[in-house]
Amino acid sequence: MTTTPKRDAAADLARRFADYVPSLEGRDIVAIRPSYGLMIDGEERAAEGGATFPTIEPASGAHLADVAEASPADVDAAVAAARRAYETTWRDMPGRRRAKLIFRLARLLQDRAREFAVLESIDGGKPIRESRDIDVPLSAAHLFYHAGWADKVEYAVPGMAARPLGVVGQIIPWNFPLLMAAWKIAPALACGNTVVLKPAETTPLTALLLAELIDEAGFPPGVVNVVTGAGATGAALAGHAGIDKVAFTGSTGVGRSIRRQLAGTGRRLTLELGGKGAHVVFDDAALDQAVEGIVDGIFFNQGHVCCAGSRLLAQEGIAGELLDRLRRRIELLRVGEPLDKNTDVGAINSAAQLERIRVFVDEAAADGCRIDHPSRPLPDRGFFFPPTIVSGLGGAERIAREEVFGPVLAVQTFRTEAEAVAKANATRYGLSAGVWTEKGSRILWMSQRLQAGVVWANTFNKFDPASPFGGVRESGHGREGGRQGLREYLDTTPVAA
Ligand code: ADP
Repeated sequence: MTTTPKRDAAADLARRFADYVPSLEGRDIVAIRPSYGLMIDGEERAAEGGATFPTIEPASGAHLADVAEASPADVDAAVAAARRAYETTWRDMPGRRRAKLIFRLARLLQDRAREFAVLESIDGGKPIRESRDIDVPLSAAHLFYHAGWADKVEYAVPGMAARPLGVVGQIIPWNFPLLMAAWKIAPALACGNTVVLKPAETTPLTALLLAELIDEAGFPPGVVNVVTGAGATGAALAGHAGIDKVAFTGSTGVGRSIRRQLAGTGRRLTLELGGKGAHVVFDDAALDQAVEGIVDGIFFNQGHVCCAGSRLLAQEGIAGELLDRLRRRIELLRVGEPLDKNTDVGAINSAAQLERIRVFVDEAAADGCRIDHPSRPLPDRGFFFPPTIVSGLGGAERIAREEVFGPVLAVQTFRTEAEAVAKANATRYGLSAGVWTEKGSRILWMSQRLQAGVVWANTFNKFDPASPFGGVRESGHGREGGRQGLREYLDTTPVAA
């Protein structure tokens, strides 16, 4: 068989790459206890009847700890504590004092950044490089940004007087456990609300550590309460009559059920749900730059990202070349131990999620799609799935329309801008999209027509606390971040002229 020199070079690089010496981040910095309780009213307590559930390490399948499983009565106690804290301390505390506490929390998080990063990677399976360089710093950035608003909330919405809502129930997913906790609590607290937070059942540990920091920072008891548990605990919180708002990030199915629960109650709701974001790559795009953006867009955090660029729409003239370059590029991705600093793609968060991904890809193969993934073997324990490219799609396949939430890129082609827009919008979601072209006017034309809450141009996955984030259509409603995000935690009335 003859191969091109380019392929030889890639194979050579892949061989050298395979020989990297592991560079493991030490685990000793974290002390995982055998069991964890709920954090209610500034105190750790067992769940009613001592109910617990296990949290396990996705990279090994090992049992990490038993965590309290909150019953409806426990949720009741947390909501009552949050109400007391709201009425007796937090609502009437001057903004500058609230700011001080949130700033202090941000600094404490920075002080213990390495510990949080290691714990996040152990409990959730994401590469240490990501938890260290993205999750933890961005969590601190959200706290800093919102601390800055705490004494200026009255200026957040021009022409409106703004008051806090009261007690907010916040339910978060397992893909960014600490970051989602920070995204949720920072604006709520800055605006003067108190919080009951429910972390996801597979990744409770960093939210519980954050609760310890909240106490250490000197927040009054009950301002932030953490109730751990699974869907039933989340449903008890979302449906609780004592809360004034629910903020949910998770799957579209659960979002829909929460919306039904809240219909007609007058309680506020923001939903950040699933997505099926498309990269649209035109024939004038800088291809190597696009390859890096596409790789980051779908393989970052094993593709467990609601705004992941899980579809690639490539213009016909460059589709072959782009796919070739992508296939070579994924050969170089290192899949494995999350705590190894060389790792690009870590462990799938749970056995259940691994199974969901497998079913999607098996179905695509049965539909006649081409499946590519790197030739190197996966680790022989834990939950792993290789970075995967699915091509040869017709567009009607489930993998072309539905969210996989895994490291799987579905590739289609297009000829014209109009066709690209039609294909990109051919899902029920609307969270993110990426446009890759040298032509500025085309970026603007496309951005106006892509039905997505965020459109990145010649880049992907860029986040900033000052920039509002959220979806349209079945990706949810409401924004997080920026001034728009503050409005979601405020009750506003027009100021009399
Ligand atoms: P995923 O599919 O990403 O696991 P889910 O929507 O199931 O997302 O989970 C996101 C969060 O919602 C988790 O904290 C989970 O425990 C919680 N949850 C699951 N079911 C319900 C429910 N019926 N009501 C409220 N929260 C729920």
